[in-house]
Amino acid sequence: MGSVLIVGGGIVGVSVAYHLSRRDGVSVTLFEKGDTLGGETTGKSSLGLRQYGTDETQVRMKRYGKRLYNEFMADSSDMRYEPTEVIHVATTEAGRETIKRTQAGEHPMGSPSECVEGSELRDVLVVPEIREESIESALYRPNGGYFRSPESLVHAFADRAAAAGATIATGTAITDITVRDGQVEGAIADGERHTGTVVCAAGPWNNAVAAMAGVEIPVRQQRLHLLELEPPEPLTRTLPKIRHVETGVTFRGRPNGRVLVYHAEPAEDPYAAADVVDPNDTPGVSESIKCSMLESVETVMPVLSGAEVVHEDVAHTSRTPDGNPIIGWTERPGFTIAALHSRGIQYAPAIGDIVTRQLIDDDPTGYYADVSIGRFDGYADSHGAR
Ligand SMILES: Cc1cc2nc3c(=O)[nH]c(=O)nc-3n(C[C@H](O)[C@H](O)[C@H](O)COP(=O)(O)OP(=O)(O)OC[C@H]3O[C@@H](n4cnc5c(N)ncnc54)[C@H](O)[C@@H]3O)c2cc1C
Repeated sequence: MGSVLIVGGGIVGVSVAYHLSRRDGVSVTLFEKGDTLGGETTGKSSLGLRQYGTDETQVRMKRYGKRLYNEFMADSSDMRYEPTEVIHVATTEAGRETIKRTQAGEHPMGSPSECVEGSELRDVLVVPEIREESIESALYRPNGGYFRSPESLVHAFADRAAAAGATIATGTAITDITVRDGQVEGAIADGERHTGTVVCAAGPWNNAVAAMAGVEIPVRQQRLHLLELEPPEPLTRTLPKIRHVETGVTFRGRPNGRVLVYHAEPAEDPYAAADVVDPNDTPGVSESIKCSMLESVETVMPVLSGAEVVHEDVAHTSRTPDGNPIIGWTERPGFTIAALHSRGIQYAPAIGDIVTRQLIDDDPTGYYADVSIGRFDGYADSHGAR
């Protein structure tokens, strides 16, 4: 295979590095423009795993991820996982319909969820702080959880990759991709020319990096606003993950008693509602968005009114037209893409496996029909899907 150059040291890039470095005869170099790995979207993530999907591919990818994370944790890494429930709550009749549609769309390979009336919520869930009276109905998903720290997660992959011989270059941006006779030759980092196949795992910068190779991808970004709250009084437990379906505001407890809150505008078609954005151009969280996020949290959990906002941030999550990731060969030989429709913590392990099997074994993999860029009209990949 020769050399592979990976652009991006978020969860996706390090998983690709880990999987490739386990194969003989491959020289792997990962370039991360930031000074640390996982400092962008991955570092701001809620880091959650769930066992749901709208098709078999999604559930299978999540299962692959869980198995690998189990393996890492059994191997005495620093990773810590906290199980939790995930609850979607609706406070209107329209929200009740959204919840019914969400449950109806779940693939049967996922864990069973339960729809409950607001008045039944405390029969299935121990969170006394929830104001049951505000809630029309809820979707209760028992089988969730999250990792405590993005650093330990990213290093679980990166350290193993480095031990197997991969070079991990932080503080090093890819500034151009060199193409000769229609084929990628390599990339330029810090003015230096590197030769090899390029794997683009640049998160919200994927469009910009793909453009360096002359490749257009059907990926857009949605802005997410994040707040971290210090509750006025200690809560009775670490809060589960709660999503208010009408507003899209989602929150969950942190083991230190604080509450992470994030928000992306809910949309029937998230891709249509998103845009190609420059992630470097990031206005902060506006006062009006902050107020509406806090209002939504307080509707469900009045004890959080008066909570202090101790941190605020903005992130960008990627969106694809059909809600599945775009993984693998592109129309440009030598240029592979790993772009998401969010859920990167859950999908990154399987993405590393798919990219490795395509590049090393020339195996499209069983996921191909649902993840190849060639599934979209007007896009193709170098191995034939149109
Ligand atoms: C608030 C929030 C909650 C979330 N919750 C969940 C969840 O519960 N479960 C889940 O599965 N997913 C969740 N996600 C989504 C998940 O975090 C992302 O899908 C995932 O982190 C994306 O990883 P990535 O590696 O693609 O991107 P990133 O982590 O952004 O990594 C891309 C990296 O590429 C680097 N880069 C870009 N351009 C260049 C260049 N030219 N040269 C070198 N390096 C470059 C960047 O610096 C960056 O570090 C959440 C996201 C957010 C924001």
